[in-house]
Amino acid sequence: MAGIKWVLASDIDGTLVGHGGEGELAQFLADHGEIGVVYLTGRTRANATSLIQSYGFPEPLALATDIGADVFWGPDLQADEAWAFQQRREWAPRRIMRALETVDGVSYQGRSSHWRIAYGVRDYPALSAARTRLVQEGLACRTLWDEEESRLDVVPRGALKGRALKHILARLNLRTQQCFVAGDAENDGDLLQGRWRGVLVANGSIDLKEHLPAVIWRSPFEGAYGVLDGLRQFLEEPIMMEREYVG
Ligand SMILES: [Mg+2]
Repeated sequence: MAGIKWVLASDIDGTLVGHGGEGELAQFLADHGEIGVVYLTGRTRANATSLIQSYGFPEPLALATDIGADVFWGPDLQADEAWAFQQRREWAPRRIMRALETVDGVSYQGRSSHWRIAYGVRDYPALSAARTRLVQEGLACRTLWDEEESRLDVVPRGALKGRALKHILARLNLRTQQCFVAGDAENDGDLLQGRWRGVLVANGSIDLKEHLPAVIWRSPFEGAYGVLDGLRQFLEEPIMMEREYVG
């Protein structure tokens, strides 16, 4: 933590990895020890950690997994128990599973972690019926729809990357203006809402692209190259950008 001047807070899949440039970005971060990295991912801890290591990215200042449901503090990745407690208070997985058991066209697929219940969904009417049932039962949760895989994930209501990042920066005593965010998909939406400066990589979601605030750079480069592109600009002109941010 000593000597950290800036924070790169980034999604992993599709942003840091998967579109080339991983090695260049890893090297850039290794050369700039004043930049701490916070990883925010839909992956689980073990899964995210091995990926970070395999690409040679820096050890995390903090790692938020399951889209922010859990926070771990680097380098030894101690769980943030206070944060988990907050999520657990209103997380009722058994009630959710009971509620969805009898919805036609919705089939339980399993739980990849304590915070994520996955369902296969037959069609749109079934998707809508599942969402309606959760609301009717008054269950505090969020749903994530993966159209390609026809999969509906149910996660805690407070599982949001931006919310987790706000908590992490406050605990590290870092200011909003010291942080730069990067993402590519819908589950990065609340990261890219304009609280922090940041970048949407070129392979990012079209929906997100249309609704980006001015403080988010739309990089013409994909994946890690896009992150590097945005991060370089941020480091070159943080003061100007800070004014822009305030204004
Ligand atoms: Mg992603």
